[in-house]
Amino acid sequence: MNFTEQLKKQELFSIIGQAADALDQEAYVVGGYVRDLFLQRENKDIDVVCLGSGIALAEKVAEKLGNNFKVNVFKSFGTAQIPHPEFDLEFVGARKESYRADSRKPIVEDGSIADDQNRRDFTINAMGICLNGNRFGELLDPFDGQGDLKKGLIRTPLDPEITFSDDPLRMMRAIRFATQLEFDIDGPTFSAIAKMKDRISIVSQERITDELNKIILAKTPSYGFKLLESVGLLEIIFPELVALKGVEYKDGKGHKDNFYHTLQVLDNITEFTDDLWVRWAAILHDIAKPATKRFHKKAGWTFHGHEEMGSRWVKGIFRKMKLPLDQKMRSVKNLVRLHLRPIALAQKGVTDSALRRLLVEAGDDIENLLKLCRADITSKDMSRVRKYLANFDRVEELLIELEAKDKLRSFQPVITGEIIMKVFDIPPSREVGIIKSAIREAVIDGIVPNEMKAGYQFIIEEGKKLGFTPVCSVEEIEINQSPQ
Ligand code: ATP
Ligand code: MG
Repeated sequence: MNFTEQLKKQELFSIIGQAADALDQEAYVVGGYVRDLFLQRENKDIDVVCLGSGIALAEKVAEKLGNNFKVNVFKSFGTAQIPHPEFDLEFVGARKESYRADSRKPIVEDGSIADDQNRRDFTINAMGICLNGNRFGELLDPFDGQGDLKKGLIRTPLDPEITFSDDPLRMMRAIRFATQLEFDIDGPTFSAIAKMKDRISIVSQERITDELNKIILAKTPSYGFKLLESVGLLEIIFPELVALKGVEYKDGKGHKDNFYHTLQVLDNITEFTDDLWVRWAAILHDIAKPATKRFHKKAGWTFHGHEEMGSRWVKGIFRKMKLPLDQKMRSVKNLVRLHLRPIALAQKGVTDSALRRLLVEAGDDIENLLKLCRADITSKDMSRVRKYLANFDRVEELLIELEAKDKLRSFQPVITGEIIMKVFDIPPSREVGIIKSAIREAVIDGIVPNEMKAGYQFIIEEGKKLGFTPVCSVEEIEINQSPQ
């Protein structure tokens, strides 16, 4: 492949070259952009390294691009960035790095292009292409990154143990790139990760989670998790997931390996959604199985309540992972808590009230819940899978019909606690709660329509059971309720 031709197609690269010529600097496009050029993957991040000041080069480039372009300068890092409508352009002077044991932040000094390539994490990320006019398109590939791209190999340019000890985030990056690119990890690089795994402790949780999320968003995330597990990193960063691993036998009865089952569900769900949070729900759906596992002489292995307990664990896991504790987390909780419900409906035969109840509880998570359930149907027996899926199609149709009819996802009972208190002239009390949940249940079960008149009649009857008599009519309530 002729990458010079490809670079020429994008005028920006010639402009950078001309700017560098004007300053009498050498300039190279480096790193991820070059790698992705060979792989024909789209990449919007252009990193330029020059011999000299990156800031001066950025300013010259902006000048050549015209009035609309400004430069953001990060003086303390010696870097500069140009916001461009199509690309994120970054400039930096070539540097040399040295590390201390307790930090992944290196001591940085000016260096040669070779120094700059030496400090990069993998051979495939250590290539540079010269942009200067007389050398435009010249590839600098000191570690045969091109060869590794062809072989599909993640390999560190220098001694892998030193590379990973210097900056242990690179261990996560190795596995993340292997997963995203579907590459192998070179033997010595792999062994070095296994050996240096405990160094991950000096990396911030945010950076670890960033890499983990990129693995989760890949096409086959299970590959990344299997790699993480086999080098021993998963045990450190996500022990709850490793606890799912293994099969126990008693009286000749075994259960499925919930680690591999979970990874299968995660891979399955990539067919249905790119949403990171739904993928997290897939990872966490069975997380409490080890804690709820029991063996019964007759029934064999059970995991009763794992969905409730798992749902209660979500917040703690999100907090530890430094994931957001907002609505997204609440959706994950909801999905984990409800993940068995649609399947149970498909097996048992469906009643309208069970469907209504599910719609009310799932709210806006209903579509994602159905995706999770579909992904959760895994079995070696394909005819069983097909039978489940057919039942499941039916449940899904019924849910869609019911939702269209009753708009249950945003269900709010018309009869509120306040109305109950007014009708019987009673203060806030346990009895108000009893009547309120009775009317709510009756509406969900379809016994009473969710309307004022019917609701009023219903609570009068419920109130009677508790010895209350109404003090106002439905008309008086309606007048009070109507907007002023
Ligand atoms: P992507 O942006 O798709 O994640 P990338 O290769 O561009 O991939 P960045 O994190 O944007 O990755 O980094 C840009 C380049 O900087 C990399 O290609 C690599 O050469 C270098 N680099 C980034 N992080 C490290 C690191 N921790 N150690 C060594 N080199 C690194
Ligand atoms: Mg990048």
